[in-house]
Amino acid sequence: MARDQYTFIDPTQLYADFEPKKQHQPEPGLDAELTPKADLGEESYRGSGRLTGRKALITGADSGIGAATAIAFAREGADVAMSYLPDEEVDAKRIAGIVQDAGVTVITLPGDLRDPEYCRDLVAGTVEGLGGIDILVNNAGKQVYNEDLTTLDDEQFDDTFKTNVYAMFWITKAALPHMKAGSAIINTTSVQAYKPSEILVDYASTKATINAFTKALAQQLAPKGIRVNAVAPGPIWTPLQVTDGQPPEKIAEFGEQTPLGRAGQPAELAPAYVFLASAESSYVLGETLNVNGGTPTP
Ligand code: NAD
Ligand code: MG
Repeated sequence: MARDQYTFIDPTQLYADFEPKKQHQPEPGLDAELTPKADLGEESYRGSGRLTGRKALITGADSGIGAATAIAFAREGADVAMSYLPDEEVDAKRIAGIVQDAGVTVITLPGDLRDPEYCRDLVAGTVEGLGGIDILVNNAGKQVYNEDLTTLDDEQFDDTFKTNVYAMFWITKAALPHMKAGSAIINTTSVQAYKPSEILVDYASTKATINAFTKALAQQLAPKGIRVNAVAPGPIWTPLQVTDGQPPEKIAEFGEQTPLGRAGQPAELAPAYVFLASAESSYVLGETLNVNGGTPTP
């Protein structure tokens, strides 16, 4: 029998043959160009109706963690609206095809999240195309390393905050009037929120902000029956890392410093998003679910 996410397996041995070499792509990067290929759960994620009939908007749904989440949501029965950059059409088409194969509705809404107008149109397009929205996954992100703050240009600092923080604010603000009690918002933070690298000052700061945003908003929306939570990935094999998310010479040892001793795959993140999206987590609010290979967090 083929492996799925329920197969009993030693997590240290899962992906034991994964050995990335030094590589680099220009931003935003493509899953199609990653070697080895990331596991998005294409062959392994098995749905069981946990999100039947839900309508989900996922940003950065073309690749990496967002793509694995889109596949999982679709196989759990949710319709999916995908946001991504126009340059990522190749990845987005492939994921949209896999989502469609699950028998749900998929719509693709490319654009640039640094533009508040696009963020608002994205929500409007989702509501129009899917007939509503009851799951919002703010997942898109920008991470470009910088070794010396005096050379961190204003534009990068601004772009990183626009993509990671402002877009989350703009989209959430636009989506809330459409979200009924029972809806769920899931933000993507990072282990960088607690254990910031010296070369990710701007990025790590956005991730700490996302944690605080999540915990504050969760309290505000609790009485309305809308739950807000976050997922905090550790080192996960995605295009984000090879587009100067870190120095190319670090790629070969990516993830080895975790207690599990290896990088994670996007497929290992998707179940966390499914849990926080579904009513199974009805009493879980303002939580940050760490999926990081064992690195201790506060
Ligand atoms: P990824 O490159 O596959 O996904 C990031 C996506 O963000 C891109 O596919 C792109 O569609 C989107 N994006 C970036 N800038 C955009 C813009 N201006 N407009 C519209 N879309 C834009 O990489 P990923 O690792 O799956 O990233 C998903 C999330 O996970 C990010 O928030 C990232 O910070 C977070 N994360 C990743 C890791 C990791 O090790 N990969 C660790 C912790 C947190
Ligand atoms: Mg991408």
